Amino acid sequence: MVIPPFTWPVVRPRVVVSRCLLGEAVRYDGGHRASEAAAALAAVFEVVPACPEAEAGLGVPRPPVQRVAGDGGVRVRGVEDPALDVTAALEAFGAGFVQRQAPVHGMVGKARSPSCAAGDSPLFDGAGQVLEEGAGVFAAALRRAWPGLPVVDEAGLARAPALFAGQVAVFAHWQSLGGTAAPREARLQFHAAHRLRLLAHDEAALCRAGRLLFTDPAAYIESVMQALARPPGAAGHERALARARRHLAPGLPGARLQALDEALAAWREGGISLDAVRRRLRGLAAEAGEADLAGASYLRPHPAEAGLSPAPAGCAGR
Ligand code: SF4
Repeated sequence: MVIPPFTWPVVRPRVVVSRCLLGEAVRYDGGHRASEAAAALAAVFEVVPACPEAEAGLGVPRPPVQRVAGDGGVRVRGVEDPALDVTAALEAFGAGFVQRQAPVHGMVGKARSPSCAAGDSPLFDGAGQVLEEGAGVFAAALRRAWPGLPVVDEAGLARAPALFAGQVAVFAHWQSLGGTAAPREARLQFHAAHRLRLLAHDEAALCRAGRLLFTDPAAYIESVMQALARPPGAAGHERALARARRHLAPGLPGARLQALDEALAAWREGGISLDAVRRRLRGLAAEAGEADLAGASYLRPHPAEAGLSPAPAGCAGR
């Protein structure tokens, strides 16, 4: 089967961002938690602002709420007045949001929020003890609607904005093919496009994901997105670049192979950028008619990844 060359299908992925991180005064106390990293997203993504608590009609200011374990599952109750239960209002808002706002390709949620947190919202027992930490109820509703959806908080985004952009871009590609309902051929196309990228991030995850591709699409994309949440590091880039070189080497004339090896050596020494090596590999793959390698997403990062990368210092590429 011939796999068509890959191009990024979604130029401006849609990312939900907690309104308080965008500087809107919507918190329970009437304040905000403006984040520079969140504000910068608008340059490369379509930002979809959301404040589930305010938009569910709980008001600003409002009594603070928290996640509490109950007989019927997680409830969202008042911190000072446990009789206040806003679970139904938040669930209704989440369900309507999913209907109105699809497609969504990522979320940046306020850390520790019972509604928006990516994974560190405390869950209390009836006695006020923390049982565990998890996603806020709104973030959890989005992840149920779109398995694998990348969700990060403001600190994670500020630490590694390009990493998040890569996750969002890959997830947008997955969604454009039909998500977990994508036909078998489309899933194969997706896996081929991102195989090298996965290899850079997590080789073991690439093997795990490959086994799930046709048997469990939801588990497959969860596995892919978890792997992409880990930065590749120099060793991961080395692994992916070496794989691309091995693929091309048998068909390259000696002089071209030597020039490629010199470029790889220069990258290892910090003399040229990773992007320069990627461009060279892409060009060689295209010349050789290796469409799947020429189009591999690892060699062709999404514009949002470059848009959220810090400006390189000198020409250090690693
Ligand atoms: S964390 Fe979420 S619910 Fe709370 S104020 Fe911010 S946007 Fe609203």
